[in-house]
Amino acid sequence: MTDTTPDLDATNVTRAEAADRSRLLTVQDYVVDVDLSDARDAAADTYPVRTVIRFACAEPGAQTHLDWIHGGVESVTLNGTALDVAEVVGEARVLLPDLAAQNVVELVGRSVYSRSGEGLHRFTDPADGEVYLYTQYEPADARRVFPDFEQPDLKAAFTFSLTGPEDWVLASNRPEVSRTPTGDGVVRVEFAPTLPQSTYITTLLAGPYAQWEDAWDGHPASGAQAVPLRLFTRRTMADAFDPEAVFDVTKRGLTFFHDLFGVAYPWGKYDQAFVPEYNLGAMENPGLVTFTEDFVFTSRATAVQYEGRANVILHEMAHMWFGDLVTMHWWDDLWLKESFADYMGALGVDEATDFRTAWVTFASRRKAWAYVQDQMPTTHPIVADIVDLEAARQNFDGITYAKGASVLKQLAAYVGRDAFLDAAHRYFAAHAWGNASLADFMAVLEAASGRDMRAWADAWLHTSGVPRLRVDVDGDAPVLRQEGADPVTGGPILRPHVLKVG
Ligand SMILES: [Zn+2]
Repeated sequence: MTDTTPDLDATNVTRAEAADRSRLLTVQDYVVDVDLSDARDAAADTYPVRTVIRFACAEPGAQTHLDWIHGGVESVTLNGTALDVAEVVGEARVLLPDLAAQNVVELVGRSVYSRSGEGLHRFTDPADGEVYLYTQYEPADARRVFPDFEQPDLKAAFTFSLTGPEDWVLASNRPEVSRTPTGDGVVRVEFAPTLPQSTYITTLLAGPYAQWEDAWDGHPASGAQAVPLRLFTRRTMADAFDPEAVFDVTKRGLTFFHDLFGVAYPWGKYDQAFVPEYNLGAMENPGLVTFTEDFVFTSRATAVQYEGRANVILHEMAHMWFGDLVTMHWWDDLWLKESFADYMGALGVDEATDFRTAWVTFASRRKAWAYVQDQMPTTHPIVADIVDLEAARQNFDGITYAKGASVLKQLAAYVGRDAFLDAAHRYFAAHAWGNASLADFMAVLEAASGRDMRAWADAWLHTSGVPRLRVDVDGDAPVLRQEGADPVTGGPILRPHVLKVG
């Protein structure tokens, strides 16, 4: 407990602050109403948001704060008492003093339409003047849309509603449960509450998107029901889109990951939206994955482009289990979910689709990217010390994604594929709907493989650089030698390898 007032303008969030808040709070649920009925008005730069959050506090009398990078706060009501907005609201945080054991806070205000791709991005299609909106939050931009406890380990149930033009697609992680006209061609759509999930993978989608529907049949062996599938693009891209091919990869992927993990897809529906001006490749929001529009091929595409798109579809799908169902406590373990998904993306393309070059592409593109980054002075161990959000933002790189994935591929060779998949299954079973760390993953690997994983983790995850493997063939008995130096520490790197020599 601390009585010092935090800097309410601070946008950076430290690991220590997050750990403090995590120890103090148990968040039950959010009800978030977002009103986009003025979104087509270019002069409107903010939109109304009303949020109610219920949470428990382990130390009554303590204070905490919400994160909200807002466009003006009207009111903050904590446990029935209106707080002085001038006193408790800063540019990025809202102070919640003197908490009870059980709390309800209601906040009314406005958030800002984004043009940077962070938060709720608004795009006007130059081809037809239509307005499209979508969200992108990782690592910490849900707070640009609604007030929240912005950290991965305060999971909660979120009930979103979106108000907007009645002829628009209005979508979120969960299916629509009610649709209420509010007059003037505007409708308020409420979505089913989410299952327990982190803030950074909540999502909203709004606009006159073109839409395609299909379904995946389910997987009786793992108890998975049929899953409704939808695809979205903006209307002016619809003619260029090939929904059959995307549905095909999606269905094959769902079957593949059920065969592999034996854990039923937990999120109900599976929507995929291909959106304009997207900052990255894709984002694994459960039930509604967003992708860059570059995957809508407006001219004749190469086999490599189709394979690359399939890889990203399967990468995001792997996150539904690894990342979404079981989530890191903090961004230290970003690499683990990204490496796992990267590895599963290539494995899925290789084993579940008709593309035959997934591992060649992996070696020549992903692994080559990692090799280059790992020989630069800026390299770092796969396990990085992420003290705050700024450090987390710097860490979406070739070491986190591609070297990590290469090392997980080596790990699967080291413990054996069956033990690796057994470990994944144990991990999902033990930590579903919660948070876990690298130590938890190593524990299930030890249980599944019967090996001590500490030396392996030290050698592979806590050192930098690329050792050289060489076969000396002078004499009768060829000898495999390993040598190399860690570019960060200068020390030798010697790692256990399982490899085939031909
Ligand atoms: Zn990913």
